[in-house]
Amino acid sequence: MIRIVRIEVNGVEYYARAEGHGFHLLTAAPWAGGRDVGAVVGNGRLLAPVQPSKVVCVGSNYRAHAAEMGKATPDKPRLFLKPPSAIIGPGQPIEIPPETTRVDHEVELGVVIGKRCSRVCKEDALDYVYGYTVCNDVTARDFQKEDGLFARAKGFDSFLPVGPHVVTGLVPERLALGCDVNRKVRQMGNTTDMVFPVAELIAFMSNVMTLEPGDLILTGTPSGVGPLEAGDRVTVTVEGVGSMTNPVVDRSDR
Ligand code: MG
Repeated sequence: MIRIVRIEVNGVEYYARAEGHGFHLLTAAPWAGGRDVGAVVGNGRLLAPVQPSKVVCVGSNYRAHAAEMGKATPDKPRLFLKPPSAIIGPGQPIEIPPETTRVDHEVELGVVIGKRCSRVCKEDALDYVYGYTVCNDVTARDFQKEDGLFARAKGFDSFLPVGPHVVTGLVPERLALGCDVNRKVRQMGNTTDMVFPVAELIAFMSNVMTLEPGDLILTGTPSGVGPLEAGDRVTVTVEGVGSMTNPVVDRSDR
């Protein structure tokens, strides 16, 4: 298993391979051909481990979550996009904009594409994966209902915490995942309950749009979504990947 992070050291950002207590700096992301520069640093500030050209997401991909949202289990994946500008790293604050009344957490398994991928079949799809990460698909639920479209509800700056790293060598079909807020469990699920497993999602998405190395796929959230408020600390966890915690603050508007 390889663990890839992105870190800031003395104001400079690097991709790095985390090994033991050190970070082995890379020339670029490994999915972009990055190689070891031969330098190891002891610490650095963790950033989101990906800088995707796009973030492709799927709604209602766990039956129990579809039911809690009052929706039927979909017969094909329901895709939407989140803007890369929404991405933040571990420990960075989720900012609640003043005009919303309800912002929810959604823990999701994140898939990082390793090779350019267009119209692949589900049998080959996992060959195009570099690794996996933990995501929080933060959602302004009031705007999701009001608009009937997702760009505003899911597109605010800071609405996509990703991290703390990308790990390789996982089998994605049987991973526990969960979310707690202020150390109280809100979501507990398992990727076995996905309506469309990762390989099917990649096949479906890549039939629509070419997936580039470093692109991020969000695979849906299990049931138990609930509101976040300023002062909360929200932790999302995926088995075999890790945990990421973000504080929640009110956005301070000028
Ligand atoms: Mg979601």
